Amino acid sequence: MILVENAAIATVDPAGREFTSGHVLVGDDGRIAAVGAGPFTGTAEGARRIDGTGCLVTPGLVNTHHHLYQWATRGLALDETLFGWLTTLYPIWGRLDAEIVGAAAGAGLGWLALSGCTTSMDHHYVFPRDGGDVLAAEIEAARAIGLRFHPTRGSMDLSRKDGGLPPDHVVEDTDEALAATEAAIDHWHDPSPESMLRIAVAPCSPFSVTTRLMTESAELARRKGVRLHTHLAETDDEEEFCLKQFGCTPVEYAERVGWLGDDVWLAHGVHLDDSAITKLGATGTGVAHCPSSNARLGAGSARVRELLDHGVPVGLGVDGAASQEVSHLGAELRQALYTARSRGGPQAMDAREALRLGTVGGARCLGRQDDIGSLEPGKLADLVMWRLDGLGHDGIDDKVAALVFGPPARVDLALVGGRPVVERGELTNADADTLTARARAAHRRLLRVA
Ligand SMILES: [Zn+2]
Repeated sequence: MILVENAAIATVDPAGREFTSGHVLVGDDGRIAAVGAGPFTGTAEGARRIDGTGCLVTPGLVNTHHHLYQWATRGLALDETLFGWLTTLYPIWGRLDAEIVGAAAGAGLGWLALSGCTTSMDHHYVFPRDGGDVLAAEIEAARAIGLRFHPTRGSMDLSRKDGGLPPDHVVEDTDEALAATEAAIDHWHDPSPESMLRIAVAPCSPFSVTTRLMTESAELARRKGVRLHTHLAETDDEEEFCLKQFGCTPVEYAERVGWLGDDVWLAHGVHLDDSAITKLGATGTGVAHCPSSNARLGAGSARVRELLDHGVPVGLGVDGAASQEVSHLGAELRQALYTARSRGGPQAMDAREALRLGTVGGARCLGRQDDIGSLEPGKLADLVMWRLDGLGHDGIDDKVAALVFGPPARVDLALVGGRPVVERGELTNADADTLTARARAAHRRLLRVA
C-alpha cells in the first residue's frame, strides 16, 4: 500500500473533483482504494506514507501517438515538410534493427516517464527484412522502464513504384504484413483490465499503404477485438494525394475502407472540414492531437475546439521523436492549450480541459477509460505527483494552472498500477545515463550504416 497525503489533487473524474490538500490511498492490488480531501482517516496499516506537500497529484498522462524508433534519428531534416522529412529519413529507417529500436525505445520511454507519462502507445511500421524482432525489442524496453504499453503492429505496402511515398526496400508484402500483424496480436495482446500490454493494428498512412491493406487490417482488428490506428489528415500534401488517388478527402477515404468507429483513433486530424469533424463525432472516432509535431513540421494546427464540441475523443501525442525532438508529454499540455488559443482565442481551452486531453481523453483513444485516466476508487493506480513549489511554479495558487501554464514540472512520483516508475525525478527501474549511452551508440551506428 502507498498513501500520499498533504498534496493538491486533481482527480479529473467526471465531476472534476479537486482538493487543495488531500490524500490518495493505493491498495496492494494496484488500484486506487481512496481519494479525498484532508488526511486519510481510515486504517492504512503498513502503508508507505509519502508527503505530497508542495505537489499536485494527477492521473498519469497517456501518450496516444509516438514512433519510439525515431529517437535514433533526431535532429535531422529540420526544415522540411512532412513529405520532404519522410523522404530524407525513409532510407535511414530501412536499416533499423532490433538493437537500435530497443535502444531508442528505452530512451524514449524513460524520457516519457520522466515527463509524467504512465501509459504510452507506439506506432511502429518499419520492419526491415533482416532487422530481427523489433516489436519484441520495444516491448522489452517498456517492461524494463515499467510503463503501461500499447504498441501497434504497423505496416507499409505501397512503395514509390506503385505510387506511394516510401522507397521499395522499406515496405512489406501485403499478405506478409497481415500475417505478421495477426501473429503479433496472438503472441502479445493482453485484453485484461489490468493489462500492461495491448496490441493495435496500424497501417501507416494513405500514401504508404494500399487500399487492400487498409480494408483487411480493419477486418483483422475487428475479428481479433483490438483497436485500429493510422495517420490521417496531417498535411495539405496528404489531402492532395487522396484527392488525386482516391477522388475524396482523407476522412471520406477512411469511411470507405471501414476506418471510422469507436475502435479507431487517428493521429493528427489537422486538415478536417466541418463534415469530416461531424463524421468523427458521430462515429466516436478518436484523434491523437500532436500539436508540437504539427508545429515542428509546419503542418498546420488541428481544430481541437470543434473536435471536442462534436464529442470526438481527443488525446495528446508527442508523435515521433524525430518530428518534434522534445517528446515531453507534460510540455504537450501547454502546447495543446496554446494551439487551441492561437486558433480560437483565450476561451478556446482552459488548463483543466488540457489536463483532461492528456489523461482521460487519451485513455478513451486507447479504449482504457474504464481502467485509467482519472483518480477514482477502483481504477488502476496510474498517477503522477508533480513538484510545484520550486522557483518556476511557486506563487501560482491554482495548481492545475501552475502545471499547465508553467514550465514542465519535475515528476516526484509516478506510479503504474501502484508500482513506482519515477521517484524524486529519477527513473526507478532504469538508469538514465545507461539509456542515453545505448541510444547514442544506436544513433551513431544507424547513421554509419545508412
Ligand atoms: Zn506519427
